[in-house]
Amino acid sequence: MANWRKLAGLVVPARCAAVVKADAYGLGAGEVGPALAAAGCTTFFVAHLDEAIALRAVLPQGEIAVLNGLMPGCAADYCEHRLLPVLNDLASVAAWRQAGGGPAILHVDTGMARLGLSAAEVERAAADPALLAGVPFAYAMSHLACADEPGHPLNPAQRDAFREALARLRIAAPASFANSSGIFLGRDYHFDLARPGVALYGGNPIPGRPNPMRPVVRLDGRILQVRGVDPGTPVGYGAAHITGTPARLATVAVGYADGFMRHLSGRAQGYVGDTPVPLVGRVSMDLAIFDVSAAPAAVPGGFVELLGPHQDVDALAAAAGTIGYEVLTSLGHRYHRRYLPA
Ligand SMILES: *Cc1c(COP(=O)(O)O)cnc(C)c1O
Repeated sequence: MANWRKLAGLVVPARCAAVVKADAYGLGAGEVGPALAAAGCTTFFVAHLDEAIALRAVLPQGEIAVLNGLMPGCAADYCEHRLLPVLNDLASVAAWRQAGGGPAILHVDTGMARLGLSAAEVERAAADPALLAGVPFAYAMSHLACADEPGHPLNPAQRDAFREALARLRIAAPASFANSSGIFLGRDYHFDLARPGVALYGGNPIPGRPNPMRPVVRLDGRILQVRGVDPGTPVGYGAAHITGTPARLATVAVGYADGFMRHLSGRAQGYVGDTPVPLVGRVSMDLAIFDVSAAPAAVPGGFVELLGPHQDVDALAAAAGTIGYEVLTSLGHRYHRRYLPA
């Protein structure tokens, strides 16, 4: 995977993990995990214990960490599958110690109020080292809230807070901080282990600047029917679009049940060859209609490019008013998927 190698190269001498939560951002962790391992990745992060157990089945080697942390009664599963729980509070640290667990990751919240030890917990643990004693921490981590905004003052504030917490807690374990965008904030943010996700899958980690990552996903929708219509023809549910001129319309087998969001209605376009073809009317569950008047090559059985060289994940996301992460993780399970060698 060229994108992982690129990011790993950028963070040297730090190491580079891979975040493969949410089924590798919708692309298939069962395929992506082993491909990344073949590229040299040895540390993987998922969100859920179930995701970790499934990943362990295809990745017998390597570290697999579970971001959502330890749930009551699950310590034995972590041990059985050799998983690293991310311990997000002092109670979890105590529970893991109690369960006789092995290596784990300590997560410190440095400014997003989401997961990890709060400032008050860091305070308590600094005052009472017994609270963290007895757990062999493989890593300490924290997570950036605004890494995609390089000028945001929270970035250096979080970095400094993380450094201070590591010092106060006297944690000697390697530290992990940067997500995809964090890697591009510079050396100061790399610490010992980077944790990119979206950039591995072709999302732009530096919004507003040219995307340094290689595109990973291509999505084509199959054309089921093409029809010529007169001006004044209502198109799709709610008659939300009325043709203004004679038009050729292509009905394509993609809909919101496939993660082709309804909110794209009237805002997105696809491509037939190099020709942009506007999406017209509402996206329905299984179907979407494109005006292919300008694209004589659009014929039944052919395809409309939805993601590909003419439209990347971030561009389609912008049309839907969302981010590339949501477009990827929404990709449906009805697509015929083909994985090409990297
Ligand atoms: C999702 C996630 C990442 C990866 O973030 P990207 O922006 O996709 O690179 C890293 N760390 C944590 C804690 C996460 O939740």
